[in-house]
Amino acid sequence: MAADRKKRQMPLGLLKIREFNKENLKTCGLHLIGHVMEEFKKEQNKLKTYVNEILHSIFFFGVIHKDCLTPVDFLNEQTEIVQQAFPEPFDKYRSHLPKRTPFSILLDIMQLTFGTKENIMRELCSLMEKLKFPYPLDRPANKNQRYYTLESTVICVCSNSQCTSQEYFGASLGCRTENAKSIMIYSSCLNTWHEYVSYAVMSFQHQTEGESLQFHKSMQCQAYIRDWNDNVYKERQPCMNCTRLFSLPEGTEQEHYPYGNCAETECLSKLLLKDQFMQENTEIRNYTTDKMNMFKDRTKKLLQGKLASIPSLSNRNNNDLLWFNP
Ligand SMILES: [Zn+2]
Repeated sequence: MAADRKKRQMPLGLLKIREFNKENLKTCGLHLIGHVMEEFKKEQNKLKTYVNEILHSIFFFGVIHKDCLTPVDFLNEQTEIVQQAFPEPFDKYRSHLPKRTPFSILLDIMQLTFGTKENIMRELCSLMEKLKFPYPLDRPANKNQRYYTLESTVICVCSNSQCTSQEYFGASLGCRTENAKSIMIYSSCLNTWHEYVSYAVMSFQHQTEGESLQFHKSMQCQAYIRDWNDNVYKERQPCMNCTRLFSLPEGTEQEHYPYGNCAETECLSKLLLKDQFMQENTEIRNYTTDKMNMFKDRTKKLLQGKLASIPSLSNRNNNDLLWFNP
């Protein structure tokens, strides 16, 4: 027994990194919650649903994290105050799926407050600095040092060039672990993204050759990555996956991420959901309802499998998937 236990012990270096990562996530969660609670005081009616949603999303990512963080781990002595004002996220973080990551919800709050792309990007940079979010990739060569900070370092802005006053924002998934990424991609395919975007993402996951979306030529799309040294957003080319999914020009080979991970996915989905001209003038190859249902069935099973593997969730043996509706 003793020998067994010894064998399973992690080396001290790894343990320290794990402890460090856990503390980072807790601090980022607490700071982000503190920020949205402050904003909420200024704009109660406008922000109530967003605060509900972001709390739930942070708690969900905490509880599926390998250290299984609870709301109390994030909030400490402030738990009671927050729980009294927003009881629902506390009741549902173990049973309901979020529709978006905390950072995507933060982007919406920023858009409500600051409006245009330039203002949002500037304010986001200073917010990240103020909240002391650490650089998520401490040392690119060391995978253990890639901690999850709740920040999505890449965001994307798209619009219809015939009406550029309406901009749509999206964030990359940010979550560092494969499990959390897969859960968000499957969940978004089933219940968040526009059906064409879901169809394209699922077709690339389930087939050797996926079905690309072809937007009308008036679609404009640009991703930005936050440069941590200068603390500004800089333009970033789409990756090969996004080039394939959305027929974007000039894809560059970047680090491998699963289909649907990138910021392009979320903002192009928003564009399709909101812009009727784009809906009517975007083509997708070989789309049929039967195929869509088949992809959705497969994705649902994959999602249920992932959820069943996380002991801290309360609905993991339940066949019905539940989503949090703020
Ligand atoms: Zn991409």
